[in-house]
Amino acid sequence: MATTTMAPFRCMMCGHEYQEKVVQGEDVERSCPKCRSNSIRHLKGTKK
Ligand SMILES: [Zn+2]
Repeated sequence: MATTTMAPFRCMMCGHEYQEKVVQGEDVERSCPKCRSNSIRHLKGTKK
C-alpha cells in the first residue's frame, strides 16, 4: 500500500504555492495548476 502525504510546492514561474499529494518513494513530474509550468519546487522545512 502506497503512503500518500500532502506536501507544499511552489511554481517557479508564477510563484503559485499549493499543496499536492505525493506518494512516498515516487518521483512524479508535476505541473503548476495555475500556469501549467513544470518548474515546480518542493518546499521543505515548513512543519506545523
Ligand atoms: Zn505557475
